[in-house]
Amino acid sequence: MIDYLLASLVVISIVLAGANYLAYRLFERPRHALMWAVAFSLTALQYLINLVREELPSAQFYWQSANMVSFALVLFALWGHRERLNLHTDWRYLLACYTVLSLLSAVFIHLYPLDSVRTALAPGFTFLAMTHIAMVLLRSTREPRLAQWVAAVIHLLFGLTQGLSAAIALNLDSDSREAMTQLYNTVNFGLMPTLFIALGISVIFLLATDLASRLSTMALVDSLTQLNNRRGYLLATESLWARCRRNNKPLSLMIADIDYFKRINDRYGHSIGDRALQHFARILRESVRVEDALGRIGGEEFAVTFGEKNSAEVEAIATRFRAALAREPLCYGSVELELRASFGIAEWQDKDDLASLLKRADIALYEAKAAGRDAVMVSGDRSLVGMASNG
Ligand code: GH3
Ligand code: MG
Ligand code: MG
Repeated sequence: MIDYLLASLVVISIVLAGANYLAYRLFERPRHALMWAVAFSLTALQYLINLVREELPSAQFYWQSANMVSFALVLFALWGHRERLNLHTDWRYLLACYTVLSLLSAVFIHLYPLDSVRTALAPGFTFLAMTHIAMVLLRSTREPRLAQWVAAVIHLLFGLTQGLSAAIALNLDSDSREAMTQLYNTVNFGLMPTLFIALGISVIFLLATDLASRLSTMALVDSLTQLNNRRGYLLATESLWARCRRNNKPLSLMIADIDYFKRINDRYGHSIGDRALQHFARILRESVRVEDALGRIGGEEFAVTFGEKNSAEVEAIATRFRAALAREPLCYGSVELELRASFGIAEWQDKDDLASLLKRADIALYEAKAAGRDAVMVSGDRSLVGMASNG
């Protein structure tokens, strides 16, 4: 019966190792997926050692190899989790940890053969490592929260079960050896396999949700400037819009278009053009608040939606931004380039939907261009806008 269970666990571990390796190969090679693939491969090896323990040359050989594989797999699992969260991990420290544990294990197998300690070493260490993993997952500020939370709880439960195993194992040399062995087997073969499978699934869930959140970021963010792209900008604007509407607050929108940008490309080349876009985007980001919706909505066209600001306030922001642009020319090699831009601003009015508001800002921008560029234009009847926001 136990042999069947162990054989299934070997297969499940191989499948989990394969899934992690696939994630590594297919999705931009995240190192943590590779480490987890190694950890699950070692888990398969560990269950295999358990399965064939009767065939092994000696009991000492069984214990030493099972313990050393177990320490290694736990360290790889832990390393993977720290790597995923960009926590610095010195591999020499891990290696030192591994060496000390292996030596300890050898001492209690060969020098002072103590059944209790040699059995408790691996689950005891697993308990510590799993608790550490759960803590880093819970403390992480990274998205997706749910997958991390689930993984943390499962790692913690798994760790606690291992801790229980270790505590039982430590009593193996006592008078109640018989009862302790039975209890140890119940925990190890009754509880552990289910938790191990749950743990494997939680890791795959983590990889899958990481990928999903990366894909949705890619769909909403402009890779050149790291600002929202048009879609991301419209989404951000919609939520700002809903909030301002609910709270009866003003909302204004500004479109900025770099002047004569084509000339920059023609004169200095496309790559300087790209740098100019990044430079412009950075100064624009620094000129607005984080809660404003900001995006690159076209080639050299940017838009910002300001919640709780009327058009006069946004006009002042545009003026400050133009001053910042003039103060900070783009310097690249021998090139020093002062960027200029034209701005169209529109404030939300009752009759507006998002499309008409954008349209009005766009018309204002066109007027600024027509008036000679390097200018700020506010849409519509300014006194009316002023009245609406004051009242
Ligand atoms: P105006 O003052 O009327 O806005 O003139 P303009 O030259 O800025 O505008 P126009 O629309 O004629 O040219 C925009 C140029 O922006 C054309 C296109 O080659 C360039 N462009 C669009 N996207 C990118 C990009 O990602 N990188 C670079 N380097 N250039 C881009
Ligand atoms: Mg332009
Ligand atoms: Mg343009």
